Amino acid sequence: MMRPKTNLLSVLIFAMAVVAVSLSWAATVDDGFSVGHKIETRHFNVFIAPGVDDALLIRSLDIGPEHKILSGQSTAGVSYSANNLGDLLDVLFGWVCNVLDMKLYSYKGVIKIARDENELKGVFRKLYGQEGYSQKAFYVSELNTIYIAAPDFTKEILSHEMGHAIMGSYFVVQPPEKIAEVLAGYIEYQLRKSNTQP
Ligand SMILES: [Zn+2]
Repeated sequence: MMRPKTNLLSVLIFAMAVVAVSLSWAATVDDGFSVGHKIETRHFNVFIAPGVDDALLIRSLDIGPEHKILSGQSTAGVSYSANNLGDLLDVLFGWVCNVLDMKLYSYKGVIKIARDENELKGVFRKLYGQEGYSQKAFYVSELNTIYIAAPDFTKEILSHEMGHAIMGSYFVVQPPEKIAEVLAGYIEYQLRKSNTQP
């Protein structure tokens, strides 16, 4: 059944107001995150807390030539430096896009890496005024930002959040939360599986 035009118009106005409010929230929001250094990759602006160094994050990500990524090609077939955190994040992003079969060539988002789970907890509290259910990582769609704690900076946890970011950009109408969690869980599962496969 077609809805009357007036309804459609008010829905549109409401949707525009929601977008305007969330955009202004994004522009003014203070997440309390303190930045030590920043790197820019093709797909991400990455903000890293003071005292967290790239080498540690690279070790924790643990992406190597043994992992089959990008349509079954080994990472050996992809040009990246295993010593470059930015390269590895873009490789992981491509990997997750592939698992979901959702290609986002011009995607650009933000990753903020907190020193520890306590700092991450503080960011969540500052943003939402309450405790978060996850102290390892979360994605804030209004800010297009993945927050993650350095001790939990693994490809499995990060890929789960990248999945949320990719779905947020890919779908015009967002999937229900449960469906998004199932898909994000599927990515994590695929990446865990890659650790045990020859
Ligand atoms: Zn999730």
